[in-house]
Parts: sequence; C-alpha cells; structure tokens
Amino acid sequence: MTYALVLNSGSSSIKFQVIDPHADAEADPKASGLVEQIGEPQGQITLKTGGEKFTLNTEIPDHSAGLSLAFELMEEHQVGPKDLDISAVGHRVVHGGMLFSHPEVITDEIIDMIRDLIPLAPLHNPANLDGIEVARRILPDVPHVAVFDTGFFHSMPPAAALYAINAEVALNNGVRRYGFHGTSHEYVSQQVPALLGLPAQAVNQITLHLGNGASCAAIRGGEAVDTSMGMTPLSGLVMGTRSGDIDPGIVFHLARNAGMSIDELDTLLNKQSGVKGLSGVNDFRELRKMIEAENQDAWLAYNVYIHQLRRYIGSYMIALGRVNAITFTAGVGENDRYVRADALAGLEPYGIKIDPERNAAPNTGAREISTDDSAVKVFVVPTNEELAIAQYAVELANRG
Ligand code: ADP
Repeated sequence: MTYALVLNSGSSSIKFQVIDPHADAEADPKASGLVEQIGEPQGQITLKTGGEKFTLNTEIPDHSAGLSLAFELMEEHQVGPKDLDISAVGHRVVHGGMLFSHPEVITDEIIDMIRDLIPLAPLHNPANLDGIEVARRILPDVPHVAVFDTGFFHSMPPAAALYAINAEVALNNGVRRYGFHGTSHEYVSQQVPALLGLPAQAVNQITLHLGNGASCAAIRGGEAVDTSMGMTPLSGLVMGTRSGDIDPGIVFHLARNAGMSIDELDTLLNKQSGVKGLSGVNDFRELRKMIEAENQDAWLAYNVYIHQLRRYIGSYMIALGRVNAITFTAGVGENDRYVRADALAGLEPYGIKIDPERNAAPNTGAREISTDDSAVKVFVVPTNEELAIAQYAVELANRG
C-alpha cells in the first residue's frame, strides 16, 4: 500500500497527515498530527494513529526541528517514512496568485515562483515555503506537490475577479480577487453531480464552506464564476474571528479617529471581529449555548452572520440564473442544523425547501437535506482538504 504525506505549514505550526489516497473519504487517516508553538520555549507535537493519541512536549526551535521530531514520533509508532511507502508529499500553499491554476510538482523554479508571491500572502507563503524546504531535505527522493488554495478560482471571469479601483494601481500591486478554500470548494462541488444524477457540465451550484474561516462559491459546470473571499481571506462572509465584508472607509476612520496602526487594524479585523467580536466566542457550539441562555450579544452575532450568508446566497442565485444545488460543508456547515435552516428559511418561492427531519439527522457523510419536491437540492457534503491534496499529490507524482 502506498501513502501520501500531506503538510500544512503555518507560521508557528505544522499539520500533517499520512493518507491512503484511495481510502474512503470518511475513513480516519493512517496518522495525523500537529506540531505547535514552533519557536516558543515549550513546543508540543501530537500524533494520532490507530485510535490512540501520543504527545511530546519539547522545545521546537524551527520548522526543520519540528518536522524531524514529528517523523521521529511517527517512526516510534511505525507510521513514519521508514515504515510506510510514502509515494508523494502534498503541500498546502495558500497563495498561488495569477501564477498557479493547478497543483504543481515542486522544483526549484516553482519554489522561486511561490516566493515571488510572498507580497500577496506575507504571513502564509513564507511558512508554506519553510515546510516545503524542510520536507524536501528530509524526503529528497519523493516527489513533492504544491496544491494552491487559490487555484480553483484562477479562471473566474474578469467581471467577478476585478475590483473597481484604479486599474494601474491594481495591476502594479496584484490587487484582484483570488479566492481561497479552493481545494475544499472543488472537492465538495465535484461530488454534487453524482448526488443529482446529472453530468458535471449541466450543474449550476453554490457551495458554502462554513468553518472557522468561511467562504462561498458560485460554480457553473464545474468552473468557479464567483467567490466571497477576495485578494485576502478577510472578505465576504462573517467568520469566527474575521469581519468579512466591511466598508473600506471604516479602516480610514479608525486610523484617523482612533489612531489605530495598520497592524492594530489587521489584528482587529482578522482576530477580534466576526462572531467573536460581536459575542465573545467564535465556536458555534458555544454560541448556541449562549443563545439558548438568551444572551443578546450571541443572538445578535448569529443574526449578523446569517444575514450576510443570505446576502451571498441570493446574489449567487442571480449570478447563476438557474441553481441545481446548494451544498453546506466544513465544521459549521456539516454540523450546525440551525445555521443551515436559517440560511435557507423562507425561500420556498425560489424552489428551496429544507426537510426539517433530514436536516436534523446527525452528520453521517454526504446527504440530502431538502424535500423530495425541492426544485433546488440542498446537500451536506463533508469536506476533506487533506484527502484532496493527497490525491493530487499521488496523481501528479505518478504522471511525473
Ligand atoms: P477551520 O476553518 O479551522 O478548518 P472547521 O471547518 O474545522 O474549521 O470548523 C471549525 C468550527 O466548526 C468550530 O469553530 C465550530 O464553530 C464549528 N463546529 C464544529 N463542530 C460543531 C458542531 N457539532 N456544532 C456546531 N458547530 C460546530
């Protein structure tokens, strides 16, 4: 049996999974884990395999040390590269800019191109590159593949991709809509034609990726035609801690009126806003408990979240003209029946009818939650970005 190693490297963490790319989407990976607090005095590595969890607490000075220690822990439990046949390594890369529309086998030239995109993703791409360089050093004989979060949206039409700001300034600075969560929107949307019993070409659909980060996409015949995230993952829907769309004039106002610096504004809008900014919590399970306890802030935060979500659903229905399916995915989308019901409540005149019983059923994989006579089908399809990355990695490695 061959496996793929999937790496998602952040600035102070590395998430990893060892996956059989042909396994069932709902199956547990062979191994999964997290290297945390890289660069801090006390770091931590966790590994889950065979239903057990192992933890190692130690100083992790950098990504290189983090990945080496993770491999040691994997080998201790017979799930490391020395024990298993790892045929490819898939790396999640956040920003592919205008340079990448598809996953790529990593070469020195590809690394230089990802480096050229650092100005567009100053926090994410350097961390992704760290992970790539370290993993290539540790596993030099295995093909490494980069899978870009923006790739699926590369072909969006200019009317959806361009911002109405000065064209020269935009061009010189790479200012345009790139979209994110592309691997998830693509993975989930590819399963919908089979659920409908229609050819992919014939399907118009809206996908709602509602996790801690959240985004939605309008997809016609398999091609993305619009998405809510923009030049950065800050725009669009209200998220756990991110504001989503706001009037850009607010930024000038807070700089002038409250004396906030660019970094303070960045932190405010990315980390202290969204559902958390309005209610104090970003986890929807906690938010629900607060709503049940009649906490007014939680209720308001929830309503702002739903209102914005409905705005986007409505605008994508118009953009697509005819919609065959609306699909919920990610932590909130897969698990929170209240969000699903409220996002689509009262839309019977548009052919959208949720079946309350189907909607309330537990999260058991891909399923329909609309009524049999709903003209627009509504689905829940669990996302699995790691499996999608593993499949790309192995496919490209085999082609190679
Ligand atoms: P990320 O964007 O970090 O990958 P996920 O897609 O895993 O996030 O979504 C995480 C979020 O999903 C949590 O913050 C929580 O709000 C929500 N969530 C997870 N499980 C449930 C549940 N059973 N009910 C409601 N919300 C849930």
